[in-house]
Amino acid sequence: MNYLKKRILKDGEVYPNNVLKVDSFLNHQIDPNVMNEIERDLFDYFKRQPITKILTIEASGIAPAIMVANRFNVPMLFAKKQQPSTMARDDRYQTLVHSYTKDVTSEVMVSKKYLNAEDHVLIIDDFLANGEAARGLVELVRQAGATVAGVGIIIEKSFQPGRQQLEDAGVDVYSICRIKSLENGRVEFMEEEGE
Ligand code: 5GP
Repeated sequence: MNYLKKRILKDGEVYPNNVLKVDSFLNHQIDPNVMNEIERDLFDYFKRQPITKILTIEASGIAPAIMVANRFNVPMLFAKKQQPSTMARDDRYQTLVHSYTKDVTSEVMVSKKYLNAEDHVLIIDDFLANGEAARGLVELVRQAGATVAGVGIIIEKSFQPGRQQLEDAGVDVYSICRIKSLENGRVEFMEEEGE
C-alpha cells in the first residue's frame, strides 16, 4: 500500500455527500513529507513528456503544483476564481467551473500572457470527482492552442465520473490514489497491479 493510502486511512475523514476531508496533511495543514512523495510520484509518471508549464486551480491545487513545477523546472500557473482588477476581459482565457464541494459555479481564468500555443501543459489538482475543475483547466489550455500533456491527480474518487469524462476528451489521467467507495464512512481503494 502506498504512502498516500496509508495516510488517508490514518487521517482522512469521510463526510456526507462522499466528501473526504484531508485537512491534516493536504487541504489545510500541509505535510511536506507527503508533498515530497507526491512530487516524486507525479514526476515519475510524466517525466518523458516535454512539459513546459504546470497548471492548477486555486486554492488547494497550488501546493502540489508548485512542488511538481519545481521538479520539472518550469513555471506553475494557477487559474483564478475571481477577476483581478488588473486583468482585462480581452487579456484572459476563461471558462465556467462548478465546484463539487461548494456547489457554486464560478468563472475561472488565466492571463493570455502565460499560456501560449507552444506550451505542453501538465494539469495538477488535489482531487478528481466529477471532473469539472480538470475539464475547465483543459478548456483553458485548448483556448490557448496549447497541448494538454496530461492530468495528474492526488486523490481520485473513481466512483464519480471525472476520469471517464477526461479520457473521453482524449486526456491521459494519472492518479496517485484511486478510491473505489466512501460508503458507510469507510474508505475503500481500487485494487491496483502489484498490490
Ligand atoms: P471535480 O471538479 O472533479 O468535481 O472536483 C474537484 C475539486 O473539488 C477539487 O479541486 C477539490 O478541491 C474538490 N473536491 C472534490 N471532491 C472532494 C473531496 O472529497 N474532498 C475534498 N477535500 N475536496 C474535494
